[in-house]
Amino acid sequence: MKSQITCWFLCFVLCFAGLLIVGCQASPPVLPTRAETAVSSIPGSDPSQASAPATPVTATATSEPPAGPPNIVLIVIDSLRADHVSAYGYGRATTTNLDTLIAADGMRFEHAISSASWTCPANAAIMSGIIPSRLESSWATVGDALPRRIDTLAEYLQDGGYYTAGFITNTCISRNHGFAQGFDVYNQDFLRREDVDAYNQVDAAEINALVLSWLTDEWQGTRKANKPLFLFVYYMDPHVVYAPPAPYDTLYDPTYDGPFTSEGFDVGQDVVAGLVSPSERDIEHIQALYDGEITYWDSQFAWFITGLENLGLRHNTLFIVTADHGELFGEHNKWVHGTALYEELIRVPLLMWYPGVIPSGTSETPVQTFDLMPTILDLADLPSPQDVDAVSLSPLFRGETLPARTIYSEVDAAPSTDHWSAWIAPDTDLRSVEREGWKLIYHVGSPAEDELYQLETTSLYERDNQIQAEAARAEQLRQEGMVWFARE
Ligand SMILES: [Zn+2]
Repeated sequence: MKSQITCWFLCFVLCFAGLLIVGCQASPPVLPTRAETAVSSIPGSDPSQASAPATPVTATATSEPPAGPPNIVLIVIDSLRADHVSAYGYGRATTTNLDTLIAADGMRFEHAISSASWTCPANAAIMSGIIPSRLESSWATVGDALPRRIDTLAEYLQDGGYYTAGFITNTCISRNHGFAQGFDVYNQDFLRREDVDAYNQVDAAEINALVLSWLTDEWQGTRKANKPLFLFVYYMDPHVVYAPPAPYDTLYDPTYDGPFTSEGFDVGQDVVAGLVSPSERDIEHIQALYDGEITYWDSQFAWFITGLENLGLRHNTLFIVTADHGELFGEHNKWVHGTALYEELIRVPLLMWYPGVIPSGTSETPVQTFDLMPTILDLADLPSPQDVDAVSLSPLFRGETLPARTIYSEVDAAPSTDHWSAWIAPDTDLRSVEREGWKLIYHVGSPAEDELYQLETTSLYERDNQIQAEAARAEQLRQEGMVWFARE
């Protein structure tokens, strides 16, 4: 239970919710316990497993060609960085069920980059196929993060004959922020729970129970006029605060006795500001808690998939699992997310499972998460919109290659020093431009701070700033980025 949420965090949440909160009180809110939702009536669910690692169920992939348009299940996990997923080679077995049920028979994109390093613009890009700059989606515009003028993935699917249902747990992607466009059902009931910290207190067990109940009670009987289903489910477990339920809270680091426990000091504003500096040992533990959150989510994922299978939603269904962005644990002296554009923050898992259409294996091709928009439309045999920045990944499924491309990401500075986002946003607008293994991070209006890295195949990370030695290369990438981010 997360009993020690800090003041900043509540402010952050409430500001996102559009509430005008001027000051926070010192006393923490009362927070719910984990996994209390009754799930015994849910197909495939087993409440006795809600707090214990689940046994992976058997994958059901076949190579039979599917018939008719697929059902589509899009799962986005907030703050999940790629290199903490065991399917991506992580040393801890954090996601054994995801690895078995999706990755083993699906396509794993080794080099998937988010268009932004925090929730609102990253998700807006996924849903639109358009870069945040063109959407004007930034810290200053969370209320219109996915502008109504934009034709979204859900709208295209709905127009193409799909029944569209979204279940979300983050205020950032709420109806008020434009994300319900195109959804027949957009359930954001958890955001109204008075005692909930909307940022992290909705657990996978709870959202799964809600989704499976809806599928059973509202969807199963009619199949909504036999339309194919687009199901969007959004999880918050790895997002700060890192406080997995037992036994996941001690799964990876049972002997720690420092202050950064799941019921102790949160990784919050003081850490971001450098006022509190976790030791190496503290950071180990913080990551162990984060990994516990991931493993907790994964345990619930097994039961979720079983529930879908029992409802007939495993057959002829396209499954996609990705994240909006990653997370930093003090690398580059940065924390959490929205603070920078380093690989830890923008390289995310991207797994696609659709036997008979998507071959199993690993793709090394650099892709972006917003490519999902035209890719999903392709797989649904619907026309792709022309005016998007993303490209369809479908050629990769046919063994073809994509044209060489540059990979971009962005995060803005806070609009003013007294804006609610000022504690976390970078000092200047940041843009990243990556091509052929070279990555420029440029600081808009502050070129002296620009960074250039050669991303090594053996390391995901930026280690050696070569901006001086490779000035011409950096300038070339900068010019490319300035053109791209000025697109209208
Ligand atoms: Zn996020």
